[in-house]
Amino acid sequence: MNDVIVIGGGLAGCATAYYLAQDGVSVTVLERSELNTQASGSNAGSLHAQIPHDPFVNKGPAWAATFAPTIGLLRRSIDLWRGLSETLGEPLEVALKGGLLVATDAAQMAAIEAKARVERGQGLDVRLLGRDDVHALAPYLSDAIVGGAFCPDEGKANPLAATLAYARAAQALGARFERHVEVTGLARERDGFAVATTRGVLRVRRVVNAAGASAGDIAALLGVPLDVQGFAIQVAVTERTAPLIPHLVYSAGDKLTLKQNGAGSVLIGGGWPARWHRRGHPSTDPDSLSRNMAVALAAVPALAPLQVVRTWAAVVNGTDDWKPILGEVPGVPGFFVNFFPWMGFTAGPAVARIVASLVQGAPAPFDIDLSPFLLASR
Ligand SMILES: Cc1cc2nc3c(=O)[nH]c(=O)nc-3n(C[C@H](O)[C@H](O)[C@H](O)COP(=O)(O)OP(=O)(O)OC[C@H]3O[C@@H](n4cnc5c(N)ncnc54)[C@H](O)[C@@H]3O)c2cc1C
Repeated sequence: MNDVIVIGGGLAGCATAYYLAQDGVSVTVLERSELNTQASGSNAGSLHAQIPHDPFVNKGPAWAATFAPTIGLLRRSIDLWRGLSETLGEPLEVALKGGLLVATDAAQMAAIEAKARVERGQGLDVRLLGRDDVHALAPYLSDAIVGGAFCPDEGKANPLAATLAYARAAQALGARFERHVEVTGLARERDGFAVATTRGVLRVRRVVNAAGASAGDIAALLGVPLDVQGFAIQVAVTERTAPLIPHLVYSAGDKLTLKQNGAGSVLIGGGWPARWHRRGHPSTDPDSLSRNMAVALAAVPALAPLQVVRTWAAVVNGTDDWKPILGEVPGVPGFFVNFFPWMGFTAGPAVARIVASLVQGAPAPFDIDLSPFLLASR
């Protein structure tokens, strides 16, 4: 009998398999497509530590207080990202030169300051910058920028590389990966689960649900309600240019994340909505593209001569409260969830390490209070 089956071959699933295999657990990953083809391989590659500005403004201080403990998970994960290329033995283009949230007026600055107070309460290093300081740090910014906040821990990594590097390292440790195998049913048995797939039924002691935006469908197979959703969003990338922007740039005015990757291209996103094609897949929305580019140009006018060479849409796993859902499902012993919404690329390494420990009944690493994220205490 298999010891652990992980459903989903994105970053959550492949990294969980790696940490399980590292601990000597026999693990098989089932992926209905190819590895890293959904959110984990389609994202913008930002490594976030701060509270996202958009929900902070729209959901208010009470929401920020409940979200705040999540900062600890993001910080622990960025600590793992720092050494991940060496750990996995592959170049992941991890660069942590800091994140810069910029403002064009006093009201935006006031919101940035309020957010920084919550973040500092969680031990995050956030430095408020006035006009002169922000332009000295980031001379590429528009003259309209009046100030901002700098978080030195943030940065970027390559989403095309990370999940596959985890998968290869896990495989080298003995983990098995079954591609083009879809999980279609789950049933509890006396000492585990029967996992129905498009290639027959597998028997296993424990199951990890790492199915991203489809995690709710997987949980429903066992009658477990999981309040998660998939949202179609889009990203754009420019042609290559000389090094210009070392930071991860956000705007306090509208949705924006902007960074220059190792090849010199500038990735521009921020969670702008894409459309749903009538066949059920996401497709890019030209209106979102032009609004996203306008926010980017307002922050960094030097982008104006660059051509956008590609824009794409993908489905991000989300929840209304933005909080992760981790751990064993109450009442269903042996069934675990690894679900980190909206910023699961950043959080992938740490939450996978945590879930791998929980699966083994071991104390969670990182000396962190997991109770806000565990299903058992939600
Ligand atoms: C456009 C975009 C930009 C983003 N930008 C960022 C960013 O800059 N920084 C950041 O931190 N996060 C970002 N995110 C979010 C991040 O990418 C996700 O939160 C994260 O990748 C989720 O990883 P996952 O492994 O849980 O899900 P996924 O990568 O979606 O993997 C889930 C896998 O489960 C498989 N699966 C589902 N159902 C079944 C089944 N029944 N049987 C077998 N397999 C199944 C799927 O095929 C899929 O491969 C972005 C997301 C998108 C879409």
